[in-house]
Amino acid sequence: MTSAIVVGSGPNGLAAAVHLARAGVEVTVLEAAETIGGGTRSAEMIVPGLVHDQCSAVHPVAAASPFLRSLDLERLGLRWRAPLVDCAHPLDDGSASLLYQSIDDTADGLGRDGARWRGLFGALTSDLDSLFEDITQPLLRLPRHPVLTARFGAAAMTPATVMGRLWRDEPARALWAGVAAHAFWRLDRAMTSAVGLMILAAGHQYGWVVAEGGSQAIANALVAELTAHGGRIETGVRVRSAADLPPTDLLLLDVSPLIAAGILGDRLPPRVARAYRRFHHGPGAFKVDFAIEGDVPWRAPAAADAGTVHLGGDAAEVIASELAVHRGQMPERPFVLVGQQYRADPGRSVGSVHPLWTYAHVPHGYAGDATAAIVAQIERFAPGFSEQVVGTAVRSTTEMSVYNPNFIGGDILGGASSPLQLLFRPRLARDPYFTGIPGTYLCSASTPPGAGAHGLCGVNAATRALAALGTPRSA
Ligand SMILES: Cc1cc2nc3c(=O)[nH]c(=O)nc-3n(C[C@H](O)[C@H](O)[C@H](O)COP(=O)(O)OP(=O)(O)OC[C@H]3O[C@@H](n4cnc5c(N)ncnc54)[C@H](O)[C@@H]3O)c2cc1C
Repeated sequence: MTSAIVVGSGPNGLAAAVHLARAGVEVTVLEAAETIGGGTRSAEMIVPGLVHDQCSAVHPVAAASPFLRSLDLERLGLRWRAPLVDCAHPLDDGSASLLYQSIDDTADGLGRDGARWRGLFGALTSDLDSLFEDITQPLLRLPRHPVLTARFGAAAMTPATVMGRLWRDEPARALWAGVAAHAFWRLDRAMTSAVGLMILAAGHQYGWVVAEGGSQAIANALVAELTAHGGRIETGVRVRSAADLPPTDLLLLDVSPLIAAGILGDRLPPRVARAYRRFHHGPGAFKVDFAIEGDVPWRAPAAADAGTVHLGGDAAEVIASELAVHRGQMPERPFVLVGQQYRADPGRSVGSVHPLWTYAHVPHGYAGDATAAIVAQIERFAPGFSEQVVGTAVRSTTEMSVYNPNFIGGDILGGASSPLQLLFRPRLARDPYFTGIPGTYLCSASTPPGAGAHGLCGVNAATRALAALGTPRSA
């Protein structure tokens, strides 16, 4: 029987393991942490019974993932819950731009820009599943749906600032800038529309859903599927060198290229080792989880119904703060994401005490404390918020990379969203998952299609590993 070891139990490691186990491979997953799930873990952190997502929280791309959709998620215990409003972007005048799953509802709130929003996202979601089939694969291959993919590609190549000129008024401009900022890169660079367009298209089709009971349910569902196919998981095992591992036919690494270079050592072909060591990481996330008494007192009442709230002011301010972070400067008013998952999934609260998930975009490896800046951004749009805070749990960029060694310098996307790395991650190669060592593959978010809890990097790597079994390869 073919054997495989998967290092790391993030969504990609688990997805790779499931794909291999379903193909009849004997799979063992080794996880450094005591708990499984990598960037999909949830836990009680402040008040007993209050469930916080420790990393990922909002799942339009996971809900759109062809792999996750191929599983019987309900049976595996994963239920998506949708908020009334997908995302709110409050402005200083007390209003808020509102993103709904429905393109029409969103467009209706965007005044003169509504028709254009309807046109753009109507086209992108006309056959989203086919589009996803192409854009979640490495670039160097023939697309299955060339017209659809070319249409997406043309828009995705555009800097987000240029795409922003589509919109005539601030509500649409700010809404777009906030979603584009998920690229975590200066928004005047090529390709910075790609991430925002993908999230918006996925969201209009499947919603900005959360996992009932916490994102941990995603990992738990994958583990249930894995063990049903005979797979095993060992936690508390940090793999430092491939030489320490038992013999195996396949080795899949759900780790950053730098960590993979350390684990694989001299066995890695020199040009691959150089590429892995040159791979660069982007700005950091500074995370603060709150326990709050009652709801956030947003000045824009509709923001209370939103699963996600983007705090960054108008589009110009979002663009400027992302540029500062990219240059290594901490902005006075950083871009802050707020997650109110409990609005869609009330079971995470304890009575009237709710978990509030936030993080700020900060420079790579930022050594300061961004807690006050996050609170100030919330207070700006929800005066009186501070009085509701029952407790906080803070994770700096350094603590982020201790919590999960993949989050180097606080980079939660598995690598900088520079144009080159968005197109060819972790290196320019026909098979970007292959490490150059027979049977050994990288399967983390540092490979296509990149960050998110969709598991598709893992599935793509496992697919190639299975295809290449027994076939000699070169890097
Ligand atoms: C604060 C934050 C917010 C986010 N928000 C969202 C969101 O809302 N929606 C979304 O889709 N995505 C979000 N993400 C991103 C998402 O979590 C990641 O893209 C995703 O988890 C990447 O999955 P992965 O399997 O590639 O790696 P990871 O999730 O990083 O998992 C890798 C695993 O490998 C383990 N590991 C590392 N080195 C070793 C070793 N040497 N030996 C053994 N084990 C090892 C780690 O402990 C970890 O468990 C967020 C991330 C963070 C941190």
